[in-house]
Amino acid sequence: MAKKDIDWSNLGFGYIKTDKRFVSNYKNGAWDEGCLTEDDTITLSECAGVLQYAQTVFEGLKAYTTEKGQVVIFRPDLNAARLKSSAERLEMPVYPEDQFVEAVVKTVEGNLDFVPPYGSGATLYIRPYMFGTNPVIGVKPATEYQFRVFTTPVGPYFKGGAKPITIKVSDFDRAAPHGTGHIKAGLNYAMSLHAIVTAHNEGFAENMYLDPATRTKVEETGGANFLFVTKDGKVVTPKSDSILPSITRRSLVYVAKEYLGLEVEEREVLFEEVKDFAEAGLCGTAAVISPVGKIVDHGKEICLPSGMEEMGPVTKKLYDTLTGIQMGRIDAPEGWIRVIK
Ligand SMILES: *Cc1c(COP(=O)(O)O)cnc(C)c1O
Repeated sequence: MAKKDIDWSNLGFGYIKTDKRFVSNYKNGAWDEGCLTEDDTITLSECAGVLQYAQTVFEGLKAYTTEKGQVVIFRPDLNAARLKSSAERLEMPVYPEDQFVEAVVKTVEGNLDFVPPYGSGATLYIRPYMFGTNPVIGVKPATEYQFRVFTTPVGPYFKGGAKPITIKVSDFDRAAPHGTGHIKAGLNYAMSLHAIVTAHNEGFAENMYLDPATRTKVEETGGANFLFVTKDGKVVTPKSDSILPSITRRSLVYVAKEYLGLEVEEREVLFEEVKDFAEAGLCGTAAVISPVGKIVDHGKEICLPSGMEEMGPVTKKLYDTLTGIQMGRIDAPEGWIRVIK
């Protein structure tokens, strides 16, 4: 076994086919035991539930090589639990949580040569997902499903340092009240594509979505939760039933309290308040934290005091601590790290 000949430090975030993927099928009310396969293709009925009515949910996590050279994954039990709640909301069968973690472990084990080395900044992205496979034409849940896990190596999110981004307040909504904003479903992304393409065309990196009912409260972006820091050093993160419960955000909240001794408020955040914050960041598996330097609301600019050159100091501490835990430089809380090899 030898690491693949890949220029790890210059990888982007794109799909690269790796050797193995895990596949399990659900039929007659039960999941089969599943297995690893080299076949990266799927043959489906033209009328498959996923193709007609978008019955599909997914997860995203990463495998890292630690400072000591171990291959680890970060809190996969939370991805298992979240896939369960996503599946339940879309009337899909639950893939058992312990089997989920084992499937992820097996898939990484089958692709160890694709796990980027420590220090490259690159990681192995893991994508578990599930979709309805049998023909569905009348609107109802499918009766047969497939659960898969594939991996793809991805490059360092920030090449040459984490530069703060400029985002805009979107005119579109991401999630309806009492809708599906809190689950990780492809359907939430399909309808966000027009909004993100629009934002990019206008020169913005991301959208800030407000709560659709009143448009006065901060929700999240298309794929990351917000984290703010007040001028007196408190961490504030929006609470809402239509936000996707980011594992990165929940981990950062723990790190803020337990490792850094910071005060944390998880509560509704009025858009009105944003101009008074000292720092802002977006959190998710991809970047851990992306610093936000400027928020534009219909021509009105909110410039965070942390500026456009670097991460704010508290954001940086949070980032360094969590990535330190993931990379094995800092002791992790019990149960956060699953060692694969
Ligand atoms: C996946 C996702 C996030 C980030 O969640 P993590 O578990 O931290 O990766 C945030 N918002 C949305 C809408 C997402 O789909």
